Amino acid sequence: MKDLAYARVDSVEEALAAIREHPDAWFVAGGATAVDLLRECVAGPDLVIDISGLPLREIRVGRDVTSVGALVPNWDLAWHPAVQAMFPVVSQAILARASVRARIMASVGGNLLQKTDLAVALLAVDARVVLVGLSGEREIPIEGFYPAPGAAPNRETALRNDELILGLKLPHGRSARTSRYVKARNGPSDEGASASVAIAAELQEGVFREARLVLGGIVAVPKRAHRAEEVLDGREPHEKLFAEAADAAVEVACSLRRDAGFRPQLVRRAVIAALEGLTRAS
Ligand SMILES: Cc1cc2nc3c(=O)[nH]c(=O)nc-3n(C[C@H](O)[C@H](O)[C@H](O)COP(=O)(O)OP(=O)(O)OC[C@H]3O[C@@H](n4cnc5c(N)ncnc54)[C@H](O)[C@@H]3O)c2cc1C
Repeated sequence: MKDLAYARVDSVEEALAAIREHPDAWFVAGGATAVDLLRECVAGPDLVIDISGLPLREIRVGRDVTSVGALVPNWDLAWHPAVQAMFPVVSQAILARASVRARIMASVGGNLLQKTDLAVALLAVDARVVLVGLSGEREIPIEGFYPAPGAAPNRETALRNDELILGLKLPHGRSARTSRYVKARNGPSDEGASASVAIAAELQEGVFREARLVLGGIVAVPKRAHRAEEVLDGREPHEKLFAEAADAAVEVACSLRRDAGFRPQLVRRAVIAALEGLTRAS
C-alpha cells in the first residue's frame, strides 16, 4: 500500500472544496470497499477524503417521498420500520447479503456504486439519486445512474469525479408496498448474486397492476424486464402466469448475456419464487 494523505471533512462544502483542490482524491464513507481497494491498489490516490462525519445520516419519511441520506448504514435502512412497511424489497435486498461487515459498515451511498443487491431493489421502486458537485446539485432516476454497458465504457455510473452522493429519494408508490427480492447465489456466502430478481407490483381487484420486474447479477447493470412486466399487467396471479413471466424474463436475460450458462434457470426460479412470495404477502 502506498503512502496516503488523509483529510476528514465535516460539511458538504468542505468535501467539495477538498475535491476541487485534489481532483484525484477518493471519498471514503464506511470503508468496506475502499479500504480493500487501497490495500491492493498500486496506482491509488494520494489523498483520501473521509466523508463519514457529514450530516447525511437521516431517514426522513415525508408525505409522498422517503429521503435517505447517503451515509445511512445499510443495516439501519434495512430495519427502519417505514422502509420495511413501504419498501420491503429494499429491506430484503440488504438482508439478502450474508456479510454482516458489509451490512453494518457500509453506507447507502457506497453501496450504490456496487450495482448489486440494493441497486436492483431501488430500480423496482423507481428511486432517484441526489448528487452534488462543483457545478451544483442534480437529481437523476436510478435507471439513469447506471449507463448501459458500452454506452460509456470508462464510466460505470453517472457519478462524476467531483460529485458526492447526497442520498436517495424513494417515492411512496402503492406497488412498492407489495415488493419482493430473491437472490440466488452460486457459492460461498460473501459472493454476489449469480442471479437476483426484484419485483414490485400492486394487486388491484385481483389482478397485477404497475408491475416492475428487475434482473440483477446475471447482467452487468440492473435491468428491467419490460416484456415480463407486460405479461403480468392486468392478469390474475396463477402458476401458469408466473411461468410465462419467468420465461419472458429469461429471454431478456439471455438477450443481454449470451454466455449465461446455468443462470437462466436461476432467473426462472427466482422470478417464480418472487411472484409466489409477493402474492402470498398481498
Ligand atoms: C465482505 C463483503 C461482502 C459484500 N457482499 C455484498 C453483497 O452481498 N451485496 C452487495 O450489494 N454488496 C456487497 N458488498 C459490497 C458492499 O455493499 C460495499 O462494500 C459497501 O456498500 C460500500 O459502502 P461503504 O460506505 O463502505 O463505501 P466505501 O468503501 O467507503 O466507498 C466505496 C466507493 O464508494 C465511493 N463513495 C462512498 N460514498 C460516497 C458518496 N456519498 N458519494 C460519492 N462517492 C461515494 C467511494 O469513493 C468509493 O469509491 C460486500 C462487501 C464486502 C467487503
